[in-house]
This record gives sequence, structure tokens and C-alpha cells, in this order.
Amino acid sequence: MPPPAHFKEILNQWPPQRVQELILSRTRIDVERALTAAGSMNAENLAALLSPAAEQALEPLAAVSAGWTRQRFGHAVQFFAPLYVSNFCCNGCRYCGFNSATDKTVRGALTVDEAVIEAECLARQGFSHILLVAGEDLRNTPPAYFVELAGRIRHLFSSIQVEIYALTTEEYRQLVAGGVDGVTMFQESYNRDVYREMHAYGPKSDYDNRIDAVERAATAGMTFVGLGALLGINDWREEGFYLGLHADYIQKKYWRSCVSISYPRMRPAFGGEPPPVPVSDANLVQLMSALRANLPDVAMVLSTRELPGFREKMVRIAVTKISAGAKTTPGGYSGATDAEAQFEVADQRPLAEVAQAISAMGFDPVMKDWDRSYD
Ligand code: SF4
Repeated sequence: MPPPAHFKEILNQWPPQRVQELILSRTRIDVERALTAAGSMNAENLAALLSPAAEQALEPLAAVSAGWTRQRFGHAVQFFAPLYVSNFCCNGCRYCGFNSATDKTVRGALTVDEAVIEAECLARQGFSHILLVAGEDLRNTPPAYFVELAGRIRHLFSSIQVEIYALTTEEYRQLVAGGVDGVTMFQESYNRDVYREMHAYGPKSDYDNRIDAVERAATAGMTFVGLGALLGINDWREEGFYLGLHADYIQKKYWRSCVSISYPRMRPAFGGEPPPVPVSDANLVQLMSALRANLPDVAMVLSTRELPGFREKMVRIAVTKISAGAKTTPGGYSGATDAEAQFEVADQRPLAEVAQAISAMGFDPVMKDWDRSYD
């Protein structure tokens, strides 16, 4: 049977009610079977490992996850740093302090020259992988801004990725030509009702355009594509199930691109709201382990939203890529800013301290793991 032409075909086969029924009907025997069969994607096994029944098997599940992580990634932990270039935004995401209705937020957007200074600060700290982050701000940071910025800093980094608004395939191609090699595009929620409720207005309120963006980026030749759901706005088991389907689909169809999944758990944000559906540490361990057991080759990312002890625990179980020393304000690294942060950073340790802690655990902190084959 030919693979689906689009991920939305798969989504249509799995309406939320069917997903919920499958997850809630899984038994202890289903969980045991799924643990034995770990190592490849299977929707029923994923549902079993995400289910309430699997909460009684959290330790064996984490052990299975750790085993696959060591087998596929060894002890390497890659580091990256986010570089926020603008906190202006025309969208109305209810959970974010940068949304356009938050009139108390002190806004800031870096010129390309200012962003280069920030990038140089990060390069001096030793970072080789950088993630450019911006709200949807076409006036200050249109696609051409990122093309120009990437061109100015590409000699400093082995990988430049972006976490910005959804672009067209042609715009993604321009970014690739400029030196950008990866796109992170969180769907936030795969549940259309929740998505509509959380994104009342602005271009981001278009669910289909956002979910298509990942494929446009891969089609344009992005080496790295990152998926994620904002944990805390909907049932994490349901979101985890869709994340697994999405990552599996992208991995198979766009095999030239490396897929990653991030696990942003809602943090208090200036002007934002508390999580409607809180996700506990145990929930997050189960979610990441269940996905690792089904997707052994997918990189797993955990940011400084999480506390040091929890991040280190998750490095043993599933995580292969982490940020460090992160500032979520435009201009935060060089210190020339009054702008507000997007969310509170829980792990405030500098890069050297995080790297040392990772080494002390017997893991290898990696600043760069590949070189560009051409420039
Ligand atoms: S989450 Fe992103 S798109 Fe939404 S308001 Fe915040 S910065 Fe804008």
C-alpha cells in the first residue's frame, strides 16, 4: 500500500475520540506486550505505553527507553542555544507572554547587526548549534532577515536552525540557501478544538497551514525538522500519540531529514495563563519513554524550562539534545535589553556547568557532531 500523501490523511483516520478510546482500553497485558515489542513504531503499542495501565510499569518502561537511547545515540548529548531575535508577535496564543494582546510586555527586536553580536557571544561560549527564535513579526524579522543573519553567522556555527512562523516552501528554500539547516515547528496541540481555543486569531490560528509547514521545510531540504506539542494545554497521552504518528510519518517520507521531538512543558509566562492540564514529572517520563520505545532513532530535546535534576534524569532515559545558559529575551546574551522573557528559565546554569554535570554522569557533551559538506 502506498504511504499517505499527507499527514492529514493519517490524522483523519485517528480522530481524538478514537485515540482516547484506544489509550484508555489498554490493559497490563497490552503494556507487557508493548514493552517486549519496543524498537519500532506501532500505534497500538504506543497507546499501551501512554496509557494509565503503563503507570504501574514506569520503571521497566524507562529502562527500555534508556536501552534504546544508548543503542542508537550512545552517551552523546548535543548542546544548543536559542537566540531570541524578536518578541513582537501578531498572534494571540493564550499561553504565551509575547501574544499581541499582552500590552504590558516590553517588546524588542534585534537588528541583524545586534543579532550578530548575540551570536558571537554564544560562539565564544563554545556553542556550535544555534536556534534562532522569533514571534511572528514580519515588519522586523521577515524571512529575508533570517537569510541575511544566517549568512553573517554561518562561519561561527556548524548548525543554524530556526523556530519561527510558518513559511512557504520557496521561503524555506531561501533559508536553506542562506545557511539555515533546520526548522522547529511545534504544532502546540494536534487536537483541532484545543488548537482553535488556544489560537484565537493571527496567522497561527490556521491549523492546517502550521501542520503543513513541517513538510514544506523538509521538501525545501532542511536537514533537521523538529516537532513538539506544548505540554499542559491538552491531555498529554493524546498529544503523545499524535506526536508519535507525526514523527514516524515524517521520518519515513522525508528520510533525508533528521527528526526530533521537543517536550516544552508550560512554564509561568509574563501575561500568560497557568496550564489548564498540568503534566507531572512522572507523566513526562512516561511520555518520553513511550515515544522512545516506538521511535528509537528520533532525537529528543529538553530545554531549560526544566530543572537541572530532572534534565539529568531524562538524559539517562531518553534525551539526546539539550539547551544550556539560555536567555529568552532578545539581546539577553550581550545584556543590552529591557525586553521581557518568553517564559521563566528553570535551569539557569551556564554551559560549562551543565557540560561538567553531564560529563560527571559518564556522558559526552557534544558541541558539534558534524561538519558542513559544502558552503
Ligand atoms: S507562542 Fe509564538 S506565535 Fe504564539 S504568541 Fe508566542 S511568540 Fe507569538
